[in-house]
Amino acid sequence: MSHIKGIGASSGIAIAKAYRMEAPDLSYDKKDIDSPDQEVQRFQDAIETSKGELEKIKDHALKTLGEEKAEIFSAHLLVLSDPELLQPIQDKIKSENVNAEAALDETANMFIDLFKNMDNEYMRERAADIQDVTKRVMAHLLNVTFPDPALIDEKVVIVAEDLTPSDTAQLNKEFVQGFTTDIGGRTSHSAIMARSLEIPAVVGTKEVTETINQNDMVIVDGIDGDVIVNPSDEQIEEYKQKQADFEKQKQEWAKLKDESTKTADGQHVELVANIGTPDDVDGVHGNGGEGVGLYRTEFLYMGKSQLPTEEEQYEAYKAVLESMGSDKPVVVRTLDIGGDKELEYLDLPEEMNPFLGYRAIRLCLERDDIFRTQLRALLRASVYGNLKIMFPMIATLGEFRQAKALLEEEKANLKSEGTEVSDSIEVGMMVEIPATAVIAKQFAKEVDFFSIGTNDLIQYTMAADRMNERVSYLYQPYNPAILNLINNVIEAAHAEGKWAGMCGEMAGDEIAIPILLGLGLDEFSMSATSILPARTQILSLSKEEMASYKDEILSKDTSEEVVEFVKEKTGQK
Ligand code: PEP
Ligand code: MG
Repeated sequence: MSHIKGIGASSGIAIAKAYRMEAPDLSYDKKDIDSPDQEVQRFQDAIETSKGELEKIKDHALKTLGEEKAEIFSAHLLVLSDPELLQPIQDKIKSENVNAEAALDETANMFIDLFKNMDNEYMRERAADIQDVTKRVMAHLLNVTFPDPALIDEKVVIVAEDLTPSDTAQLNKEFVQGFTTDIGGRTSHSAIMARSLEIPAVVGTKEVTETINQNDMVIVDGIDGDVIVNPSDEQIEEYKQKQADFEKQKQEWAKLKDESTKTADGQHVELVANIGTPDDVDGVHGNGGEGVGLYRTEFLYMGKSQLPTEEEQYEAYKAVLESMGSDKPVVVRTLDIGGDKELEYLDLPEEMNPFLGYRAIRLCLERDDIFRTQLRALLRASVYGNLKIMFPMIATLGEFRQAKALLEEEKANLKSEGTEVSDSIEVGMMVEIPATAVIAKQFAKEVDFFSIGTNDLIQYTMAADRMNERVSYLYQPYNPAILNLINNVIEAAHAEGKWAGMCGEMAGDEIAIPILLGLGLDEFSMSATSILPARTQILSLSKEEMASYKDEILSKDTSEEVVEFVKEKTGQK
């Protein structure tokens, strides 16, 4: 038995066999061969096996992820049937007497380089497809396992160095009981996805891939951030009990599903959910969300081989708005790609500091073709519910004005085409760059609302990468510097008669909630599974009392002092 400590990223207990998800070693030696015909046959066998796998994955994706996500696998299958790629590889084996690995690698790379540098977006996407497919065929030639999370068909706990947001999106909840990773923190996107899928997860362990072997029995305790490898029978029993207690606790919380969120002194605050896909709205309803405070639209763009069309986006936004009805607000954030959320088909250059780089609104203002398509889809969908739009990663008023001007332009275009658009769409911004929190007063005159993105605001204010567990001690939501910035934003909004919300993970944190209530935050947006525990807590807190502590909290010296003070006043342990 070994015990590994990590960061509890999604509550719950998982007990199952380990499934290691690691990139296979695809290195090979270039060799001369004796029998080219046999080598061509070996290559064709690898192609057929890969095709069979992709057919299965495609069927599976069709059933669980929908037609749109399954399309990517159709594109991969097309590559595997394309004589323009396959013939030159076979010719090379025969004419140069080289092994299939070398012929595949060299020929595929030639096509990838050629397509990657073309002006045509379609061809650049084909380069990404060839790259993906080549890896699979190469794995078969080398006889190494290629991990396919979509093909898992027994109960497992995934063990990986890291999971990308699109890996996480492919996990099938029926079989994947939980996951644990070496890197990442509570606010890395795989952790956020785990919470929306309600899969227990422990991240930032530094050592799970080193310690856990394929098929080891593993317990993932996402409540306390523990991973137990090859537990004893007693430990399994102990954790089964903990699992049952957690289920019971969930049933208690569920009783508050249809209650409104009122403090003990009768003040209403809005408790809304963060979502990544239209499917997540079931979780919002199931957990008693009063709306959607953050729809991360970038997931629509991920796990695909090309940009989503205006029509696809319109259908997704419409589905969310209709499901939430005419009253419940839906705050949609425009595309926030970059940082840890990559889009292979956009072929963006690698950056030293992607979180400080070309991302979100910066990319959208430059690629206004992408941005306008999204804005049109949103505007068209606006008539189906209570839509609010916000822009991510705003650093300057100039950026906000430019983004809003494009929105207004597209609104005018649609109206002149005779398309109906709602006239009551609020337009706001995320406050996640310290510069905007400092001069929130100036921004408050022009926005309809603020939504504070603490996941990024904390990493930028403390200069501590949100993905890096080595500096996770600096990731301090309760640091007085962060609290003063938040206070500044809320005060600025209220002075202009605007509302201020928070959609970073801090909004659902039980130490932060009393502080934020006291600072006057109007809207709390969090993972759907945090809503009912948060509501339970808020019902017992007096907003007036919390407000009376505001000055004292804001003038504390350290994060620890803040935590101690809040615990003392609220009786939390
Ligand atoms: C944030 O930065 O707090 C936020 C909500 O955005 P994301 O986590 O998607 O960067
Ligand atoms: Mg952010």
